[in-house]
Amino acid sequence: MRIDIISIFPEIFEPTLGSSMLGIARTKGAVSFAVHDLRDWTADKHRSTDDAPFGGGYGMVMKPEPFFAAIESVRALDPAPATVVLMCPQGRRLDQKLVEELAGHERLVILCGRYEGVDERVRSLVDIELSAGDYVLTGGELPAMMLVDAVTRLQPGVLASETATQEESFSWGLLEYPQYTRPASFRGMDVPDVLLSGDHARVDLWRRTEAIRRTAERRPDLLDTAELTADERALAEEILGSPERKGDAL
Ligand code: SAM
Repeated sequence: MRIDIISIFPEIFEPTLGSSMLGIARTKGAVSFAVHDLRDWTADKHRSTDDAPFGGGYGMVMKPEPFFAAIESVRALDPAPATVVLMCPQGRRLDQKLVEELAGHERLVILCGRYEGVDERVRSLVDIELSAGDYVLTGGELPAMMLVDAVTRLQPGVLASETATQEESFSWGLLEYPQYTRPASFRGMDVPDVLLSGDHARVDLWRRTEAIRRTAERRPDLLDTAELTADERALAEEILGSPERKGDAL
């Protein structure tokens, strides 16, 4: 997969793209990143990328010309079809399902806005607008890095085991079960016996049950679409209807 990012703060990205799993993924060739400075496509001596809004009002708006020139040039760098993504609080909220879909694209070109956002005409070149959540940040760079991280870890060969993502929160329709590591006993808190038993069937059952419990307690909305057996659904209903949980909600 190839990912191009267009931003007026390209220097923000390298520490993240070069570290940990993203750095390894790049070294392995599972993904390639190219970060472009939007100012390279400006035509004036101040390399301006923003201007005052028509109609007046607060703040500045990012000009269309640099974005059009940048997208056209960056597209031409590689013949693979590119999906152009605009990071934007008004966009579709990023979730794991969408991450899985985007991870299958050959190429992403990610646009990062600043100030009051981009001139509306830039949207004519955009395939999808993505939001990191219902809050407003100063720029699209942090949401872009979230997207890059999430799609990169799904590329073949990036994680040590292909099964690592299969039981993760959201991937299997439920939140993940509780995890423990050594020591088995710490400050009076003990790891559940079943996890020390070496009985894989019991461990699997415990994990599945705890994943359902955790999801019912924290994200009951996910249960609407989770694939559960009749027994599992009964367990979920029991947890949802328990007096403790009703008390929690108050
Ligand atoms: N005036 C815009 C509005 O009300 O929708 C907000 C602009 S925001 C201050 C500047 C830039 O930050 C946006 O163009 C976008 O690229 C990025 N941004 C801010 N919050 C975001 C979010 N929740 N998700 C994705 N991008 C965001």
